[in-house]
Amino acid sequence: MGALERFSLSGRVAVVTGGTRGLGAGFAAALGDAGASVVLVGRDEDAAEGVLKSLRDNDIRAEFVQADVTVPADVERVLATTLDRFGRVDVLVNNAGACVHAPALDVTPEDWRSVMDVNLDAVWTCSQVFGRHFVEQGTGTIVNIGSMSGFIVNRPQWQPAYNASKAAVHHLTRSLAAEWAPYGVRVNALAPGYIKTDMSPVDDPAFRQHWIEDAPMQRYGTVEELAPAVVFLASDASSFVTGSVLVADGGYTTF
Ligand code: NDP
Repeated sequence: MGALERFSLSGRVAVVTGGTRGLGAGFAAALGDAGASVVLVGRDEDAAEGVLKSLRDNDIRAEFVQADVTVPADVERVLATTLDRFGRVDVLVNNAGACVHAPALDVTPEDWRSVMDVNLDAVWTCSQVFGRHFVEQGTGTIVNIGSMSGFIVNRPQWQPAYNASKAAVHHLTRSLAAEWAPYGVRVNALAPGYIKTDMSPVDDPAFRQHWIEDAPMQRYGTVEELAPAVVFLASDASSFVTGSVLVADGGYTTF
């Protein structure tokens, strides 16, 4: 098999949580571009319609399953619906996420729980539900969207719950990779730096010094330059890679 062929996802089915906007929509487009059929998961049906249309306009087979990833029964329904519509599933991208900016002493129990519920507990639930299926079929790849915040403490905004959740995602990635490698299932994470989306107001002058000027490349990233890394981790191009956390941050964490 040639090097480029290894990136092909032709005939495979990928589920992207939080595929209704931002990075998830871009990951879905890139996975589809590599040949996969795609299932978008999220709560916002209107947003999903727009993403579905642009995928289908590009001849990508795509469906939306409305679901809240913090509800285990919803996650089971996502798996069942995917198998029903496509007959198989090969890739899970755990991308849905949330962030609360607040100094530690101001973080309420509800803030803490809301971030952990989506960023960590739901990654666990989705991984377990899909992982059980992948282990049974003897193949499958999981790509968890972590963050450079799992390695560093961002500034000037404080976000302790987010940072802790992403560090946990990175180590959960390694834990599942170790357990499921013998069953043909690979688990990796992508740790992005600042990428322009609703979650990351990279144009806000309040953040310019620390987010942009302090970074080696002195710019933020785009979803288009991040998404090929998900294709790499999802495809046979990374067949000997598991338990890795791939940092894509324009060099931010080098300082
Ligand atoms: P956005 O806020 O733009 O999008 C978040 C996505 O998550 C939406 O599609 C939303 O869908 C979905 N989502 C949130 N909660 C739930 C839920 N309970 N159930 C189902 N879906 C949910 O964020 P980004 O695109 O910027 O971030 C995507 C991922 O990348 C996150 O994990 C984030 O932490 C990570 N990341 C982002 C960085 C950045 O700079 N942008 C940097 C590093 C990591 P809906 O509203 O339809 O439910």
